[in-house]
Amino acid sequence: MIQYRELTHIFRSLPIPENRPLVLHVSDHSLEKIQGGAKTFLGTAKAVFPRLMMPSFTYQTMVFPSHGPKDNGVEYNNPPLDNQKAVFFHPLLPVSNEVGRAPEIFRNLPDVQRSSHPILSFCGRELDQALQSQSLSKPYAPLSDAAEQEGWVLLIDLDQTSNFSIHYALYKGGRKLFTRWALTSAGVKTCPHFPGCSEGFNKINPHLETSLFSTKKAALTIKAVPLTVLQKVVQRLLSQNPVALLCDKEHCLRCESIRARVESKL
Ligand SMILES: [Zn+2]
Repeated sequence: MIQYRELTHIFRSLPIPENRPLVLHVSDHSLEKIQGGAKTFLGTAKAVFPRLMMPSFTYQTMVFPSHGPKDNGVEYNNPPLDNQKAVFFHPLLPVSNEVGRAPEIFRNLPDVQRSSHPILSFCGRELDQALQSQSLSKPYAPLSDAAEQEGWVLLIDLDQTSNFSIHYALYKGGRKLFTRWALTSAGVKTCPHFPGCSEGFNKINPHLETSLFSTKKAALTIKAVPLTVLQKVVQRLLSQNPVALLCDKEHCLRCESIRARVESKL
């Protein structure tokens, strides 16, 4: 088991400046390798990187209409979630299980705030401005703010398919994303710029070259990359190929929709 002291040493050995915003993603599996689990992990992470941010998404608020925009990565007559099971967003709503265990524990720490998006909220500490900048029409604003402050992304035992900031980079690079809907106490809200599929995101690795810091320490696989590098690389890939970083799976609705939109413009 990895102890607090060793984990501190690992975090301190990373090339990430300690005062920069850090978008943190950690697998549930890695927490099992650490003595004290998520509590020790988060305590150590925030001691080394005080300006931490994690996604605290709430997919359980999503509802689907029977009709909607074309090429929107969803089948309206066969919605992926049962609307009857959707719950209203509120600031204390637990983080969706799909996001992993650590973000929910992070959300409950006393010095952590949460942004307001009913599906794509972020939790963070010492990042008030970034969190407050988010709105329905600007779901990626916290990442944009973190990028302006030369923030980094850290992936622990995860690959690029978990790197949500690539969605932000695609949005910023001009890819048209999707429309989704969320249940809130003020009614159903339309949420534009909803992210696409991330299954093709590992295709970015060779293009990150030496800007991607990658190492293995004490049974943890660690990847780190500056947000500005992600932006630049994704922008370049999109300018060369408008369907860059899509997945190759058959019947991926979201990737098929992006391809259909690109083809309709040709
Ligand atoms: Zn896909």
